[in-house]
Amino acid sequence: MPNCSAPAGFDDPLEARRLDALYDYEILDTASDARLDRLAALAAELLDVPIALISLVDEDRQWFKARVGLEDVGLEAGETPRAWAFCDETIRGDAPLVVADATADARFADNPLVTGRPYIRFYAGAPLITPSGERIGALCVIDQKPRQLSAAQRRRLSSLAATVVDLMESHRLARVLERREKRLALAELTQMAQIRYGRAFEASLNEVYLFDADSLRIVAANSGARQNLGYGSDEILRLTPLDLLDGLEPEQLERLLEPLRSGRRRSIRFVRAQRRKDGSRYPAELTLELDRGGERPLFVALVQDVTAKQAQERELGGALALTQSILDACQEAITTFVPVPDARGEVVDFRCLQANAAACRLHVEFFGDLVGVRLLQLWPAWRDSTVFEVLRRVVAQREPATIEHHYADGRADAWYKLSAAPAGEGGLTLVVSDISERKQHERALQRSNEALEQFAAGVAHDLQTPLGQIAGFAALLERHLDAAGGVPAKARETLGCIAQAAENMSHLVSGLLDYARLGTLTVDPEPVDLQEIVDHCLEEFAAELADAEVTVSPLPEVPGNATLLRQVFQNLIGNAVKYRSADPLALSIHAERSGAVLRIAVEDNGIGIEPRHAERIFEVFRRLHGTDSAYPGLGMGLALCKTIVEAHRGRIWLDVDPHAPRAGGGRSGGSRFLLELPLAAPSTPRRSGGGQVLSLHGRGRTGTA
Ligand code: ADP
Repeated sequence: MPNCSAPAGFDDPLEARRLDALYDYEILDTASDARLDRLAALAAELLDVPIALISLVDEDRQWFKARVGLEDVGLEAGETPRAWAFCDETIRGDAPLVVADATADARFADNPLVTGRPYIRFYAGAPLITPSGERIGALCVIDQKPRQLSAAQRRRLSSLAATVVDLMESHRLARVLERREKRLALAELTQMAQIRYGRAFEASLNEVYLFDADSLRIVAANSGARQNLGYGSDEILRLTPLDLLDGLEPEQLERLLEPLRSGRRRSIRFVRAQRRKDGSRYPAELTLELDRGGERPLFVALVQDVTAKQAQERELGGALALTQSILDACQEAITTFVPVPDARGEVVDFRCLQANAAACRLHVEFFGDLVGVRLLQLWPAWRDSTVFEVLRRVVAQREPATIEHHYADGRADAWYKLSAAPAGEGGLTLVVSDISERKQHERALQRSNEALEQFAAGVAHDLQTPLGQIAGFAALLERHLDAAGGVPAKARETLGCIAQAAENMSHLVSGLLDYARLGTLTVDPEPVDLQEIVDHCLEEFAAELADAEVTVSPLPEVPGNATLLRQVFQNLIGNAVKYRSADPLALSIHAERSGAVLRIAVEDNGIGIEPRHAERIFEVFRRLHGTDSAYPGLGMGLALCKTIVEAHRGRIWLDVDPHAPRAGGGRSGGSRFLLELPLAAPSTPRRSGGGQVLSLHGRGRTGTA
């Protein structure tokens, strides 16, 4: 019996044929079939035994398609090794095999199914013989006690076995028919696809293949696809995309196709290695669409060989890596964004395309991976702030902008300088630097300037009072002396000197205060009519200029602070008047545009300045004359002019060119001051100088001369 006969393998042609016939039924390991179960139950009942099985004898196991009563005897196995199978003995002949008492049968006495569960004593099995004569298994009945089987019962068992085979056969035929139908349908489909996609399909330079949405079988492939893949027209029709796409599991393919099937997407695109018939692979970009237009839905796969494209991308990747390393070396956070429009096309956010290391450090909460993150996720507080408006403007007007901005939300509280520039199609590059420290210093500086200003004002006030008293006491003393009988001439002169010295000191103190204030003021540029300013100054000096030859060319408007610019001209005109020579005064104020700046020349024919003093005269308290000279002054006028002009982003200097024209037509003598002022307002206000009226008397009208 079974344990004494080793199973025959595929090397045995008879056994191979038998196994082929068995496999043809595609029955092994399938779910139970109610009709076959009923047949097994009928066998058990007819022959009055507790156990009936439909056993199929596989290469090295017997597998039960139907089992009745096995569980009741404590055996739940759906199969046993072939070596234990009584049925393996049964399939050696056409007639039923009957074993009345297995313990008394040398073939089975030590069979584990006899010595152990289900403790078989009685066995009767009729082979399942296919129409082609192959014995693929047995219908068998089993009892735990010995018994006999009558000839009639044997016949019944055989005819039930034949019925089992009939049922299996009818299943098999149904399947064959179904497949044939499908094959026919597929052939039709292929024909239909060719008609439907016509010549364009065949002539396309790309690879195109169509596959059935149900079976996934390729139903048509154009010559591009066939050539690149190396398959013949018929060969390729036996394949599915799973045969072509490298390492793609059926579930993965289904997941890919799902959005098309459900209608969520019109097309999908992915890159995957495609395998040629010869086993070689190439990177392919597949665009898939589902065509529901025909009788049966078809997937259309457009395939592009992207070998060259990927090589290019690798090259580009090298260049990008270089750019990235440069960006990473920068301390500022640099991020490039693309716009995110809403349904109406309005930019409602930006999405990060590239970020340098500093940006990643700034936004550690995104684990350093900023690509794809939206701007308002990075900076939520900008949602309704002017910053977002500025960024939108940068993109819309394609003009860069720089702003300083105090950012505060739950995670950050800092001052940032933002420089935004348009990048690519509607994109934006944003450079963010933390300027909190600078702002802190500025605030500290502002506080200390304010304290200094207060201190200077206090000192000035404290000094002015005794100075006024000195002058007052000197005048009082003069009156007392007059009353006491007259003041000697020398004493009167000395008293006059005391009063004058006190007044000089008083002017010096006010000048100092003004100069100190200049350092803390800001120029908020407004259009300033220079003509009006100069006219006004000339009027102020009308008396001194009564006999002078004054020429002024038309002067334009410049952006600036009128009060401060007036001081510049007051000082320059005042100096021309003060440092006049014995000749009648000639003063010329002439302006010309030079690019983006206005150059103004203020010339006189006075005593002139030696070129070696050209720099020094702009230093504060620097004078070329002693206090007792004929030219009194504090030495602050030109220093103030320089500070004011520079606060307007301009410059002022003494022209030392000996050939430069001089006022009055002469070629020597006199002074020529040049100043340049920008014609357009600067984008950000500049510190220094201010909209405050300064009470500087730099013209030094304090002298006795
Ligand atoms: P101050 O006139 O009070 O001395 P400024 O700063 O206005 O102070 O001028 C500095 C010095 O430059 C003056 O002391 C003077 O020697 C010289 N200076 C300025 N303007 C002229 C000028 N137009 N002609 C000759 N010397 C001048």
